[in-house]
Amino acid sequence: MTDTVTSTQTTDSVAEFAARARAWLAENMPRVDPDHPPFSVRAEQASWDRAKELQKRLYEGGFAGICFPREYGGLGLDYAYQRAFNAECRNYEMPLILNTPTFTICAATILDMGSETQKRERISAAIRGDEILVQLLSEPSGGSDLAGVITRADYQDGTWIINGAKTWSTSAFAGDYGLMLARTDWTVPKHEGLTMFLVPLNSPGITMRRIKEVNGNEEFCEEFFDGLELGEDAVVGEVNKGWEVATRQLHHERRAVGGGSEFASGTAAENANEMPPDHVGLAEATGQGDDPRVQDLAGRALTRRIVKEQLIDHVFHAIADGSLPPNAGTLIRLFHAETTELEVDTALAIAGTAGVIDEGDDFSEFADIGVRYLSRQTGSLGGGSSEMARNVIGERILGFPREAAADRGVPFNQVKRNKS
Ligand SMILES: Cc1cc2nc3c(=O)[nH]c(=O)nc-3n(C[C@H](O)[C@H](O)[C@H](O)COP(=O)(O)OP(=O)(O)OC[C@H]3O[C@@H](n4cnc5c(N)ncnc54)[C@H](O)[C@@H]3O)c2cc1C
Repeated sequence: MTDTVTSTQTTDSVAEFAARARAWLAENMPRVDPDHPPFSVRAEQASWDRAKELQKRLYEGGFAGICFPREYGGLGLDYAYQRAFNAECRNYEMPLILNTPTFTICAATILDMGSETQKRERISAAIRGDEILVQLLSEPSGGSDLAGVITRADYQDGTWIINGAKTWSTSAFAGDYGLMLARTDWTVPKHEGLTMFLVPLNSPGITMRRIKEVNGNEEFCEEFFDGLELGEDAVVGEVNKGWEVATRQLHHERRAVGGGSEFASGTAAENANEMPPDHVGLAEATGQGDDPRVQDLAGRALTRRIVKEQLIDHVFHAIADGSLPPNAGTLIRLFHAETTELEVDTALAIAGTAGVIDEGDDFSEFADIGVRYLSRQTGSLGGGSSEMARNVIGERILGFPREAAADRGVPFNQVKRNKS
């Protein structure tokens, strides 16, 4: 991109915008060391309150929602401006945890599929730092078969009554609204009887609980809906066309994972798990810097990371110029998950037993690697599992035949499900 982009609502060139951002950031945002950023603990409410406060500052300063349309609270500028801003804000504390899922997935989906009112109200509230948006898709009966959700929405006298349960909802405890997929017609095949709803999370009829993970984190939530009542205006898109909305949502999620969303503000890692482990530093700290086997392991992980960066760049441009279909984002998502696993496995292999023993300050740095190992597979589950990603690549990109499905074309109420 050049700095002469003109399809904008501002008279600033990209360079002028960047200069204005540089001056404003220095005056208004706290400085951080970009190589050792302070990470927000996503399981703590205080982190979300802080993120909202920082987002409000950005909004008041005129640097929030850079790529969202002006009528929904954004600046209506194109990606060149966002990238210029990202380069400028590297040294400052940013509300990074609002990027996913609020901006890159939920607000992006509402922008594509929501009603005018939903766009005006929800997107602008998020940009102002007033609201957090989350995703309520997976269910206790399984998340891979998203079109098989059994949370039900029944229409009675102008009201939708919701009964069912959702799970693995990232940061829902801090959320204000959730995009929730429910079944509204049981007499048609599974993809045809779904509707997406925008649910206010503090409504009566919702019980929310935190889920404790093996690493001690409690960011995920599960929600139980018992007669939750929603108005017709809660429907996103059209009734029984929820699969179209969900597909769009998954598309935005895959783009976000690879860092390919124009709605993400700031480019730094959003949490410590996204920072690549320092294999070389680790080898030296454990006295193995000259060990050829350790050098081999570290070299393999580093090579994979470089290939991943090249792949992201290639796929991003190939989707943009139409030489790969939008589903090709799945390639990035799969490679990202596998690279993360290799990097964490390599770090633990180098740390050895020190990675699983915490004997106080001297070893806590290595023990972190053991804790991180416990969540090494999150990238291969979030936003759909790696197996499902391979299915998408095989069927939608390479054109292989679709896998057999006993429920294809069968009315959902006649599909055999696990019943006792
Ligand atoms: C970090 C993270 C964040 C998440 N955030 C959210 C969120 O905000 N909102 C939300 O709704 N959900 C969220 N999830 C849940 C996630 O979407 C699900 O975990 C995922 O879709 C898999 O569903 P499941 O765990 O129920 O596994 P299942 O669907 O039960 O699958 C179990 C295993 O079977 C395999 N499998 C299933 N079907 C097939 C098939 N057809 N072919 C080959 N293999 C198959 C799967 O790959 C998996 O290995 C999150 C998960 C993680 C890890």
